[in-house]
Amino acid sequence: MRIVTPDGMLTRRGPEDWFTGAVWMDASPAGPSPDASVFRVFFGPGARTNWHTHPEGQVLFILTGTCRVAREGEPPVNVEAGGVVYFAPNEKHWHGADPDSYMVHAAVNPAANSGGGTNWLEPVTDRQYSGA
Ligand code: MN
Repeated sequence: MRIVTPDGMLTRRGPEDWFTGAVWMDASPAGPSPDASVFRVFFGPGARTNWHTHPEGQVLFILTGTCRVAREGEPPVNVEAGGVVYFAPNEKHWHGADPDSYMVHAAVNPAANSGGGTNWLEPVTDRQYSGA
């Protein structure tokens, strides 16, 4: 699967300000009045997002590997390929790969009243990632 974008944007490295570890992402650009922003993201083993929120929430479709995800105040849990994860608007969370596998997910960010973007926060520490 390749996400086809109007401006021909190709896979790019996930910025270090947003992620820990090896991350690659394909993004749909914000076109005129988009209904959603769509991203396909590859996480190497142990790689994960920073803590963050989405103004209109987010749905993750786990395509390959094992996803590790946590919501603020809850321990991390693993979600296998085929699983779907939902985050409510402005719910603080993170997601990434299990330590022992890479993981690819599609992320759909509703964008009816926003750009479908992400409010990036602090990195997820190794302790938070391991759930210790
Ligand atoms: Mn998210």
